[in-house]
Amino acid sequence: TNAKEFPRNDMSEFRRACEKVKQFMLGDNELKTIRDRLLENMRRGLDREGHKSAKVKMLPSFVTHLPDGRECGTFIALDLGGTNFRVLLIDINEEQIDMDSQIYRVPQECMTGTGEALFDHIAKCMSDFINRMGFADRNIACGFTFSFPCEQYAINSASLITWTKGFSASDVEGKDVVTLLTEAVARRGDITVEIVAVVNDTVGTLMSCAFEDHACQIGLIAGTGSNACYMEKQSNITKLDELQDIDGKMCINMEWGAFGDDGALDEWTTEYDRVLDANSVHPTKQRFEKMMAGMYIGEIVRLILLDMCKEGIVFTEDALEILETPESFGTHMVSQIVDNQPRHFAAVQNILACADIGAIRRDCEIVHMVCDAVSRRAAYMCAAGISAIAIKIHQNRPDEYLDITCGVDGSVYKKHPTFAKLLKVKTNELVGLGIFVNFRLSHDGSGKGAALVSAVSTR
Ligand code: BGC
Ligand code: MG
Repeated sequence: TNAKEFPRNDMSEFRRACEKVKQFMLGDNELKTIRDRLLENMRRGLDREGHKSAKVKMLPSFVTHLPDGRECGTFIALDLGGTNFRVLLIDINEEQIDMDSQIYRVPQECMTGTGEALFDHIAKCMSDFINRMGFADRNIACGFTFSFPCEQYAINSASLITWTKGFSASDVEGKDVVTLLTEAVARRGDITVEIVAVVNDTVGTLMSCAFEDHACQIGLIAGTGSNACYMEKQSNITKLDELQDIDGKMCINMEWGAFGDDGALDEWTTEYDRVLDANSVHPTKQRFEKMMAGMYIGEIVRLILLDMCKEGIVFTEDALEILETPESFGTHMVSQIVDNQPRHFAAVQNILACADIGAIRRDCEIVHMVCDAVSRRAAYMCAAGISAIAIKIHQNRPDEYLDITCGVDGSVYKKHPTFAKLLKVKTNELVGLGIFVNFRLSHDGSGKGAALVSAVSTR
């Protein structure tokens, strides 16, 4: 091939790149439209009739009380569904939490093989950890953080509605994951654990943040996947068959990742979002999540750069082979690139060189702009989501000033250099007067939270 295959025109490469990146820049009016559309979806998801066709599932978690600091006990917690699979031993004791944990790999073939193999693997890791910690001869209660959409009827039963992210193990959808895990543990016969609670990671994060901060009413995961939960008045959850407590609250796992699966976000999806969706493990699903989660940010950047490279806007044809390889541009690279000023092009050049992409100054500037735009859209979409939740909570007491905390966990929030700041600023621009949302990192929230829910439920 020769360079003539790359069409060139008079517009400078940088300006042509700007043209393409423009579609990722959402103004406040667009974000408010997205926020309001999500609010409508939230109402529909809670409604007795509406929920049947709702894409945003608004799942009751059966968590009705936040921790009050009096919880105690020793628990095993499992955290499955993020970047890492972890097993934790957690000791809760008067406002203090001690823990130890181990990370285990979940091989690709376990994520996409049979459900039985997946749960056998989980049980094996649990047994290994419990043995290492010297708890093998004890009967120990376990909280299971399972970060996928589940229909719950009680705190200790949860049937998987559908896999998301990179998971697709067979014969799990429609089944109770507590039963599957209990059976896998029984097949081994070498440990005695009782699974007393299953929670979504957002719920775990809310719980562990609320343990320290009583203003916390929202839990957010900005990691491999994206989702949020919040405390809703039970009387607003009209789809609940029986209210536990008419004046009480219940934590709702929104599963906002599925927002847009009915076309609600089509005005803002780009050609790159469509290609990404078509090539994903679960096409047509989780459209909101695919615009902002860590599993996808790098991929979106790759697809934009691939298109630009083909059109001769960035790099040379030597970069094509790499850019055509799925997952060759990780979200961690996007973080590293955004972390540098565009004028410090040597740093960006080095990051690209590590991925075997040769770049000149102009390439680096374009790459920086692309990474910034994709990251910014992710943070702003997330802000639109959190502002919808804050407004929904405020509507319960519209005359009072609402000052709330959102507990957050997840690799994007923790590791991306600008995401957290952009999220905080934009959320508070979108909520309007009378509301302020604070964000608070919840260290190991998803794991600790499962132990806290267990503690509250065995209290
Ligand atoms: C799952 C949610 C989870 C989120 C963050 C999504 O893909 O559907 O249940 O909370 O990822 O891990
Ligand atoms: Mg996690």
